[in-house]
Amino acid sequence: MMRIGVLAVQGDFIEHEKMVEKLGCQVVELRNKNDMGSLDGLILPGGESTVQGKLIKELGMFDLLKDLIEGGLPVLGTCAGLILLSRNISNDEARHFQTLPVTVERNAYGRQLGSFMSASAFGSLSDVEMTFIRAPVITAVEKDVKILARVDEKIVAVEYKNQMGISFHPELGEDTRVMEYFLRKCRNFSK
Ligand code: GLN
Repeated sequence: MMRIGVLAVQGDFIEHEKMVEKLGCQVVELRNKNDMGSLDGLILPGGESTVQGKLIKELGMFDLLKDLIEGGLPVLGTCAGLILLSRNISNDEARHFQTLPVTVERNAYGRQLGSFMSASAFGSLSDVEMTFIRAPVITAVEKDVKILARVDEKIVAVEYKNQMGISFHPELGEDTRVMEYFLRKCRNFSK
């Protein structure tokens, strides 16, 4: 059974855990630096990227997680998790892992349009249910970054080698196809 680590310091990690378990994988909650043994994949959930970034450092997890990502472990960053992965953040001084060569803008839909839903194409999938909550958008991508989804012309999902960065919340709702896409990456990695 695949073991998927879910960063569990802040944000909506429970929803990720439920979906990952529903899809037949074992969840490993990552709450401190001792939790990180033998994983097949890593999920960085939504929440507040500033708070998460601080906690990861205070708990001594930053270097370990960054090494796992740079070592090729498949990682799915959603919303705040995408911000943690991004090389550049256009409207924030903070920088986190910086392993994903893209630029994001935090809270890009403003305060008025805090949350909304869309049904859009994702890679070869159509009508994927997408829930956005105070979401970032990807405003620039470097070479070799594959764009998986756009909504209203804005880039909302990318893939770069072992990393996936997604503005919306694939763990919410009934549509499990984006999570299955990620778990296939994990399975190929572990083969
Ligand atoms: N607004 C949050 C941030 O900038 C991200 C929102 C989310 O993860 N749902 O960190």
